[in-house]
Amino acid sequence: MNYLNKINKMEIKKNGQMLSNEFEGYKKIDGYNATQTEELSKHYKKVLSLIGENPEREGLVDTPMRVAKAMQFLTQGYHQDPEEMLLSAKFQEDYQEMVIVKDIEIYSLCEHHMLPFIGKAHVGYIPNKHITGLSKIARVVEAYSRRLQVQERLTTQIKECIQKALNPLGVAVVIEARHLCMAMRGIQKQNSVTTTSDFTGAFNKNETRSEFIRLISADLH
Ligand SMILES: [Zn+2]
Repeated sequence: MNYLNKINKMEIKKNGQMLSNEFEGYKKIDGYNATQTEELSKHYKKVLSLIGENPEREGLVDTPMRVAKAMQFLTQGYHQDPEEMLLSAKFQEDYQEMVIVKDIEIYSLCEHHMLPFIGKAHVGYIPNKHITGLSKIARVVEAYSRRLQVQERLTTQIKECIQKALNPLGVAVVIEARHLCMAMRGIQKQNSVTTTSDFTGAFNKNETRSEFIRLISADLH
């Protein structure tokens, strides 16, 4: 079967726009766990002292609490079930062409330095009787990136989750990211971008994979 003939570029563009709209209304965690905030705050206050700061000075008084909340936000993925997100919006559909959601923003923390890595994920799949809501693909990316991560594992987890939940004919995930631990410390390579990719099923065929790469590389907007 040739999956490549009927790819509708306008559809991809439309989906991309829909996605960014839904991102704007993204549900942020509004209630923080009070016990966790308090415990984390105590530790961050200690950290401030240990790096030579005075945690009692005006500008820093509320910092431990703010950092505690920020850290809970940035790691909220531990409390989310990405597979369930897909299953909650799984629909029967005979569509068997490549579906691509590209330029999904990623804000994650590297597990080695707990510094951000920032970039974009491009996800494709070829449905096999089931599709999911396009925003759910972005939510899966979000749920796995809001944890302490390495880019390689993040890529594979997204791929495996979609493969398991939807059982498509193939899944493709490409992530491009800049790691601040590389830019700010260590070898201080400001502009290096790390690219990771992982594929299943039909995307292991050269032709299909190349088409996916071509479409995510093209500027369709
Ligand atoms: Zn790092």
